[in-house]
Amino acid sequence: MAAVFAVVSTIVILNLDVSVSAPEGVGSVSSGLIFIPPAAFLAALVVPILVAGIISWLASRTVGARIGEIVGMANRLSSGDLGSRVRDVRQDEFGELGRALDDAVQSLGQKVGELARDRARMEAILGGMVEGVLVVNQQGQVQLVNDAARAMLRLDDKAVGRRYVELIRHPDISGQLTRALSGEAPGGVELSLGRDLSQTLIARAAPVAASGGTGAVLVLHDISDLRRADRIRRDFVANVSHELRTPLTAIRGYVEALLDAPPRPEETRRFLEIIARHSSRMERLVKDLLRLARLDAGQEALETAPCSVEALFAGVIADLTPVIEGRDQEADVQVAADAATVSGDPAKLHDVLRNLVENASNYSPEGSKIELSSQLDGGGAGGGGFVVIRVADRGPGIPEADLSRIFERFYRVDKDRSRESGGTGLGLSIVRHLVELHGGQVKAENRRDGGAIFTVRLPRRH
Ligand code: ADP
Repeated sequence: MAAVFAVVSTIVILNLDVSVSAPEGVGSVSSGLIFIPPAAFLAALVVPILVAGIISWLASRTVGARIGEIVGMANRLSSGDLGSRVRDVRQDEFGELGRALDDAVQSLGQKVGELARDRARMEAILGGMVEGVLVVNQQGQVQLVNDAARAMLRLDDKAVGRRYVELIRHPDISGQLTRALSGEAPGGVELSLGRDLSQTLIARAAPVAASGGTGAVLVLHDISDLRRADRIRRDFVANVSHELRTPLTAIRGYVEALLDAPPRPEETRRFLEIIARHSSRMERLVKDLLRLARLDAGQEALETAPCSVEALFAGVIADLTPVIEGRDQEADVQVAADAATVSGDPAKLHDVLRNLVENASNYSPEGSKIELSSQLDGGGAGGGGFVVIRVADRGPGIPEADLSRIFERFYRVDKDRSRESGGTGLGLSIVRHLVELHGGQVKAENRRDGGAIFTVRLPRRH
């Protein structure tokens, strides 16, 4: 276009010159040749070339800028910025190229967005799963591993991309993956991991079709809680049977003795007293078991009311007066003014304190003092905070190793002593249940100068 312009301009300029330089009448073509002055000739040559140059420079600048915009967008694309657009709206080839590129980028952006959403969803599902999931490709390289599997197999962040045989030390789990990779679908295996034998898992691997061939997926179920619950249930049944068998054997023995050869009257009375003692122990045991079952099933609802701590202490002491006085003991009560009332179910709090005071009396020497106190921890005049109730005795205390276990069912430090005093071994587990039902906590400690302290911490709530 610039060249055409140069030629046309040259002709125009030359024509002008012809008319200007040829004097009238003389005729510029007298000899058949047109006279063109050198300056005009030069101007006719240089000006169009200059103008053409400027036009081409301007045109190439515009084209360059438009190509530059497309190249810039391509660069931004390659660096992952799918949001950039070509803003060229002109209806020529460059505009069309820009729009085609825009459309391609837009649909690519949508697909990438969908993929990212799918991946985030999958990661959220896998991350939220309690089961461990690990996926390997045909070469046995880990492609995906969720947090649960990482924790169970103790894998670090660099597991992805490494071969499972280097990472998984447990032969049963590796074996599962090997079999799944060879196309088998092995049944699950139950196993314990590491030295922590209390962790029980079921590992199950299966082949999966993946892009680029088959792979395998391993799923790990942690069944430790199930196994623990099963063990607790079995221990509990064994304990209950044992606890019931002891008094039953005694009752049966004495009944048979009475039937076989009728003993002397004083012996008959002694036998009957033994039978009565064992049967009331069985009755207590069954009563405690039923109560625990009710508490476990959430069948004991709280009937909360403001309770006077002083009145609670007085009620328990009145109930246990025969026991306390029988052992020549004394109950000392101290209630802080700001811890004088607590929100709770009075009947249940009575049972809690009765259990603790009865134990304190049973396990401490005759003539000793049992201290009952209440104090406020936190909160203020308006309410809130915790009422801390303590039952302290001057008995032998509890061996440190048993402190955390005495709230377990049937756990006793001294079995003979407990049975002798008529204990069922269930009292403290009922106490813990009842305190937790109030949103509180109970703990046992030893006094430095001898004796045990049981602390019940209850929310004051007014
Ligand atoms: P038990 O019916 O045997 O008393 P508990 O559940 O009330 O059952 O108590 C569990 C065990 O905790 C008791 O067997 C005893 O060994 C120990 N224990 C409870 N209270 C005291 C205490 N005040 N002093 C020493 N040991 C205690």
